[in-house]
Amino acid sequence: MTESKKTPARPTLKAVRGTRDLLPDQTPLWNHVEATARALFARGVGEETDIVSKEMFTWEDRPRAASEKAQQLTLRPENTAGVVRAYIEHKLGETGQLQKLYYIGPQFRRERPQRGRYRQFWQIGAEVIGPQSSGSESPLRDAEILEMLASFLDELGIRDWRLELNSVGSSEDRVRYNAALREALQPIKHQLCEDNQRRADTNPLRVLDSKEEADQDLINALPKIADYLGPESKAHFDQVLAALDACKVPYHLNPRLVRGLDYYTRTTFEFTVTTGLGTQNALLGGGRYDGLSEMLGGPKAPGIGFAIGEDRLILTLQAQAEHDAAESATNPGAPGPDSRTWVSPRKLDAYIAPLTPAQNPAALALARELRTAGLTVEVGDGTFKLRKSFDIADTLARHIILLGEDEVSTATATIKTFATGEQVKLPRADLTTRLRS
Ligand code: AMP
Repeated sequence: MTESKKTPARPTLKAVRGTRDLLPDQTPLWNHVEATARALFARGVGEETDIVSKEMFTWEDRPRAASEKAQQLTLRPENTAGVVRAYIEHKLGETGQLQKLYYIGPQFRRERPQRGRYRQFWQIGAEVIGPQSSGSESPLRDAEILEMLASFLDELGIRDWRLELNSVGSSEDRVRYNAALREALQPIKHQLCEDNQRRADTNPLRVLDSKEEADQDLINALPKIADYLGPESKAHFDQVLAALDACKVPYHLNPRLVRGLDYYTRTTFEFTVTTGLGTQNALLGGGRYDGLSEMLGGPKAPGIGFAIGEDRLILTLQAQAEHDAAESATNPGAPGPDSRTWVSPRKLDAYIAPLTPAQNPAALALARELRTAGLTVEVGDGTFKLRKSFDIADTLARHIILLGEDEVSTATATIKTFATGEQVKLPRADLTTRLRS
């Protein structure tokens, strides 16, 4: 028997469609965005959005399928429902206090991947929820959240955000509006695209979301929810707008911004941008969901929340930085590329280079000592040539620390500072002070 000499090429392993790897050159920016969010929430919010009409990844929990414990599991497509479930399960309402919860984490939806739309993506979100007596229903909560989001985007340096705002009223208001919409759609339905014809029958509110170019004039002429708001919903929305005016947060009323899910009530909003996202231009979305807790079997607990698409924040910041770099290249008077810390990560305090493998243990011991003192260090390997150690150290760190046989036996270290070119031999005990200077 002759064996084929060629072994078949193994298929290369690739990330699952719609997921991406966040490689080290991107993490400073991700960390910067998350640190900004955490700092802001610590000031304004405190920890942890659409149920099930999302396309989801769902499966049967197989080992339990045949038992009475059979259950379906789903990779979470959003977090609001989960947060409200936790609110109910842990009886947070019984504290009587307003709960301000935030979360940062991955979500999963079976959508058609494109720029800014992934099957695994990250959301930064917050929910403000509590019994009515805690002020959870107040229009001030809505305005406070919107003001905080505007500050967050400003703080990150997102330049051209636009807040789109609407009120979808109470569930009673919506029943009346839905009926009016259905009636208005009947005589014009046949002029709409196939998708919208279907929506006109199944969920007329969804027609308002349609991006179908040819249908826009007809859709814009449909009845507006604002004309169907009851006096309470209208007063609530007016107070949200007055508070936004008072703190000078600009907004645009968008009567077509109706989130299609039943539990949304009153204020709904979206922040969009024009740079970097193409058609997926929504940076974040949110709204009030006063009846959700009861829908999930809990107590009455009005609430409002939002979810920011973290991937889209990153794309926008990167596109802005690229735009600035191109501008300053063609026009020297223009502001230069963004010099924020995330663009060029901070250098390490030191790179420790053992001169031979015999000094490897001492190098690790020194790294431990310096890290414990709060310094950032990287350790080389004693088999590296000195030239290579210097090259690596120069790109990574502000100093190189050389550890040879002599240094180890005399408890000293040779340290070179790249900025000045100065090289000295010091007692080990003086290293931290030197590195901090
Ligand atoms: P939603 O939960 O649908 O209101 O989405 C809130 C925000 O999450 C959106 O404004 C987007 O920024 C982001 N987002 C939603 N779906 C995706 C996705 N498939 N890929 C990336 N970001 C998404």
